[in-house]
Amino acid sequence: MDLDKDVKYVKGVGPNRVKLLNKLGIYTLKDLITYYPRDYEDRSKPKLISDCNDGEEVTIEGIACGRVSEIRMAKRTMQKLLVKDETGGILITWFNQSYLKNKFEVGKKYRFYGKVSFKYGKAEMASPVFDNIEQRNNTGRIVPIYPLTYQLSQNVLRKIMENAILEVRGNLYENLPEEILTEYHLEEVNKATEEIHFPKQLSDFERARRRFVFEELLSVQLALLALKNYYKNDIEGIEFSKEVHISDVIQEFPFKFTGAQRRVLEEIEGDMERKTPMNRLLQGDVGSGKTAVAMCAAYKAVKSGYQVAIMAPTAILATQHLENFKNILDKLQIKCDLLISGISKKKKEDILQRLKDGEIDILIGTHALIEDNVEFSKLGLVVTDEQHRFGVKQRTKIAEKGQNPDVLVMSATPIPRTLALILYGDLDISIIDELPPNRKKIETFAVTKKLEQRVDNFIQKQVEEGRQAYVVCPLVEENEEMDLKSVEELTEKYQKEVFPQYRVEYIHGKMRPKEKDEIMLKFKNHEIDILISTTVIEVGVDVPNANIMVIEDAQRFGLAQLHQLRGRVGRGEYQSYCILKYEGNGENVRKRMKVMCDTNDGFIISEKDLELRGSGDFFGTMQHGIPEFKIANLFEDVGILKEAQKVAQEIVLKDPELKEHRGLKRLVEDKFSGRIEI
Ligand code: ADP
Ligand code: MG
Repeated sequence: MDLDKDVKYVKGVGPNRVKLLNKLGIYTLKDLITYYPRDYEDRSKPKLISDCNDGEEVTIEGIACGRVSEIRMAKRTMQKLLVKDETGGILITWFNQSYLKNKFEVGKKYRFYGKVSFKYGKAEMASPVFDNIEQRNNTGRIVPIYPLTYQLSQNVLRKIMENAILEVRGNLYENLPEEILTEYHLEEVNKATEEIHFPKQLSDFERARRRFVFEELLSVQLALLALKNYYKNDIEGIEFSKEVHISDVIQEFPFKFTGAQRRVLEEIEGDMERKTPMNRLLQGDVGSGKTAVAMCAAYKAVKSGYQVAIMAPTAILATQHLENFKNILDKLQIKCDLLISGISKKKKEDILQRLKDGEIDILIGTHALIEDNVEFSKLGLVVTDEQHRFGVKQRTKIAEKGQNPDVLVMSATPIPRTLALILYGDLDISIIDELPPNRKKIETFAVTKKLEQRVDNFIQKQVEEGRQAYVVCPLVEENEEMDLKSVEELTEKYQKEVFPQYRVEYIHGKMRPKEKDEIMLKFKNHEIDILISTTVIEVGVDVPNANIMVIEDAQRFGLAQLHQLRGRVGRGEYQSYCILKYEGNGENVRKRMKVMCDTNDGFIISEKDLELRGSGDFFGTMQHGIPEFKIANLFEDVGILKEAQKVAQEIVLKDPELKEHRGLKRLVEDKFSGRIEI
């Protein structure tokens, strides 16, 4: 069975239809049969005409009482047919379907499916699909509904799909091992393929769907594990000293660690003392105290005789980290230094030399750390901050500067557990799910354009009191030029019209890193009152005096991103505010705004984001190199995901290169052929 053959060879597909199918991403027979319905309509159970309700979509069966009559109107024609069953009559109408005139025989029985309405007390059905009573093509069964472009009708695709299924039936190769099918009660591939497209009962397609979701998630898991060399579980890492206690360094901080911080530190300390290298993801909302946790881990590594690399996405963040580290670790005779691209050649050479000689204990920096000339004397621990900015490749590259060092990946992007399981299939996950006490909730309001004046008044009041504000511009498109324009325009408006009395400046992603750092520094030193920006400030310096964030066209942002942005305020002693200006009246928009106003909890927000958007375009999935899911829904299918993950791990442990699992290997290759870059 050649599933890769061009879809044009499927019966019923002519040159025109090939083009339309291609538009849907269907090029091969295989693409076609894995183009799954988005819904089903049960047209199997006919209703009596007298039982029909206004507005209802129903199946009826009745006898044609006369011929189809045609009425000519100004721009179109109308066809009418009177149909009766034993309980009453119904007038069937179509537009511009002259060919129907000879389609019906008087006195013969037909089945119709369409929407019923009542006009002057009489039942009508407009533009239904129909069959002769002995046929079940468009009616009389459960019918799949496909996601389509408007040029290709459901009827046409359904017919093509029927031909395709007839062709493949009984010939599909089962890629899942027999034992797995049995153990997880999964339907066999031929049966499942038929039933997902043409279920006989509604329960059929659920069983079929489960099989394909399992298959899809299993192949993703297998691919990720393979890519990440999961099976290399016998590598020897570093056992850090059991005599060095993280609890000792905790005493040095000016605050009490939260319960969550202590819990994740226990997990980390356990990992560090074990021989297998740590591979841990530390997730926690902005401000949850991840940096403090990283410092404790670094302390343990250094006091056990190793060096530490801390990698941050921007120079300014790295600098901020250095300050924080020195505050605590200087007095413990731990030497921290900074490597970023802006520093002088001489200084850089000096740092590289001391690093090689083992005089620097902790090196904090940006991508500069990855460069080839950066050599450690004894690298034991690698920490990457804001990991979503770095690819796995960069993570691996820095780790290669040591001998299987421990790796701690920190992320402030709250990823729902479901997604984390997929993205970090091989990482252990620690979550800080508790903020330090006395944090004030960032008061969040969603407003429409009508309230613009009041928002401006509010900003004015705060700036008068000595505070600062961020104004974030909408992402116009995936187009930096356009985004830039909107930032500049808004800045001009604020400078000239709204707040000529204040210091208003802007920042955006296209500026050189040095320029960006300068602006951020000016803002931090309160030489700027209002900073207009794109989303570049998402990862940024702490400006405790900034207590307002206004987000323009907030409906254009994902919730996770709004949350990330909002985390820029609320970093000081002042009550902070986030104002979401939005447009549009859709229910979904309002729901999303409400989520933001109701909670400050990043994990709740990301779950809701997933729920309200569905997983198809969930932030980051593409960015992370995970192909879009054809059928799995990460929100609904967590249970199956967990099963698939377990199965994947078991298989890869026994058969890392899938030599004994050719079917599975084919699945993985199919799904990721040349498309994945991790
Ligand atoms: P994150 O890196 O998770 O965004 P940070 O580690 O930068 O968070 O912490 C944010 C702020 O909270 C810092 O000023 C830090 O000193 C402070 N902080 C961290 N942990 C605690 C705690 N347990 N109690 C009080 N303040 C804390
Ligand atoms: Mg941080």
